[in-house]
Amino acid sequence: MKPNFITEIIDEHNKTGRFAARVHTRFPPEPNGYLHIGHAKAIYANYAIAKQYNGKFNLRFDDTNPCKEEQEYVNSIIEDVLWLGADYQDRIFYASDYFEQMYNYAAALIKKGKAYVCDLNAEKIREFRGTLTAPGKDSPYRNRSAEENLDLFTRMRSGEFPDGAKTLRAKIDMAHPNLNLRDPIMYRILHSSHHRTKDTWCIYPTYDWAHGLEDSIENITHSICTLEFENHRPLYDWFIDQLGIFHPQQIEFARLNITYTVLSKRKLLELVEGNFVSGWDDPRMPTIAGLRRRGYPKEALYNFCEEIGVAKFNSTIDVGVLEESVRGILNKTATRVMAVLRPLKIIVKNYPEGKFEELEAVNNPEDVSMGSRKIFFSREIYIEQEDFRENPPKEFFRLSPGREVRLRYAYFLKCEEVIKGKDGNIVELICSYDPQTRGGNAPDGRKVKATIHWVSAAKSFDAQVNLYDRLFNNPDPENVGGGGDFKSNINPHSLEIIKNAKLEPALKEALPGQRYQFERLGYFCLDTKSSGQNLIFNRISTLRDAWAKIAHKFKK
Ligand code: ATP
Ligand code: MG
Repeated sequence: MKPNFITEIIDEHNKTGRFAARVHTRFPPEPNGYLHIGHAKAIYANYAIAKQYNGKFNLRFDDTNPCKEEQEYVNSIIEDVLWLGADYQDRIFYASDYFEQMYNYAAALIKKGKAYVCDLNAEKIREFRGTLTAPGKDSPYRNRSAEENLDLFTRMRSGEFPDGAKTLRAKIDMAHPNLNLRDPIMYRILHSSHHRTKDTWCIYPTYDWAHGLEDSIENITHSICTLEFENHRPLYDWFIDQLGIFHPQQIEFARLNITYTVLSKRKLLELVEGNFVSGWDDPRMPTIAGLRRRGYPKEALYNFCEEIGVAKFNSTIDVGVLEESVRGILNKTATRVMAVLRPLKIIVKNYPEGKFEELEAVNNPEDVSMGSRKIFFSREIYIEQEDFRENPPKEFFRLSPGREVRLRYAYFLKCEEVIKGKDGNIVELICSYDPQTRGGNAPDGRKVKATIHWVSAAKSFDAQVNLYDRLFNNPDPENVGGGGDFKSNINPHSLEIIKNAKLEPALKEALPGQRYQFERLGYFCLDTKSSGQNLIFNRISTLRDAWAKIAHKFKK
């Protein structure tokens, strides 16, 4: 990781010996949804820092809220963290395993007179809290004796009271300028089954109470989190100092925001539950599972995180930067093949019927070590419909009546005749090829202005191709005025399904997740959920940023 304000803090700690040169970080997701690219940034920051300083990295589930958490999410998070390569070795932890210890810490604070059981309901607590400009009011239950508080807290745990009847609160200062320190709630009563502890508990710690303790219990040295927790830090520090336990250093950095994207588990859940997408791993989702299924290589995610770095101020990254990281990797690593998405049939009239010919095609001109493969030429081939124009405009150099183009890795091809159906639609083209131009050059030095891709009709096979595009058509989809809904910004063309694309035979051997460049069309991979004979390829990205061109056009 490039030097940044976090590494500067760590270097300083190492110099002063604050943590005896130890570096121990963690990634603490709440298992209430699938991880997204913002989490990838947090994983990368924590893991890369631990690695760089020969330190340790923990994966910890912050599973303190039984209402929204599920085992499915735990499993998906483990899969995603491992896929990203953030190796936590044997250090996978659950905040719920610390419930007993947290309970004992709370009892210790009660005994010190630093916490009390409060009978105010949620509404009253809010009312008593005051505002940024006005101080709060003390709860009438604030001065209960330590014995009474301990007794009530024990009875809260044993299930004597209904949900919401009481809370345990820290006794700090109802006039504190930082609202987080106005006697915050530490425990609430929730008769709700937890995905791990089941019905053992009916009181659950709040995030504010639990989070700093979790880091302390695990001896985390540098607790890296996002900026919104900056003004919670004094509260975490207060708890830890009152208890006199190990004190990690919290460091805040800016959340990742990306244009044309929403990054909030709550909103992503809305997309899933409302069937706007096919699931958490829909290839249009910014989830790690979605990006993986889309075909994004993890190296691209790492390069992206490295490039954008960590900062102290919130900003929004152009989604084009992420897409460019993907192209940067795939340009060098993806095998190039030929596929025709919207086929137009060509009869090569001077090529014998029933004959096939093998030609050599390069797998990746960027990397000769990737070798070459055989493709077939034959009398009937397909080209892309849009590579032919009956009445070509001035700047169109591809195939048109009487014009010659190069077929990639094959021959020059000339259009002799256009065959139309009853309704005037073009059904096929009668063409001729020049046998002297094998490999793509004419011995007489004559030039063509375009090279197009193609496949042999008899040797190609049909497959489904899903053309994915950005899920939102607004760069700032969450910013909808007038009480609008972010879902109104969904791009209606984010998925186009092509049922019968024609693919060259090499693609029959594709493995799930394997990535290719379909020449001139973009990067594609075999969907991991595609099975048997019915292959489905997902478009990972176009070859260039098509949206930049649109933006450019609008600017003109
Ligand atoms: P969301 O708002 O999407 O639900 P969250 O912050 O509630 O995310 P957690 O499971 O609590 O999700 O997050 C685990 C870790 O990931 C936290 O340390 C959090 O700071 C970090 N994180 C979450 N979103 C982002 C983001 N967009 N950019 C960077 N880090 C993030
Ligand atoms: Mg959260």
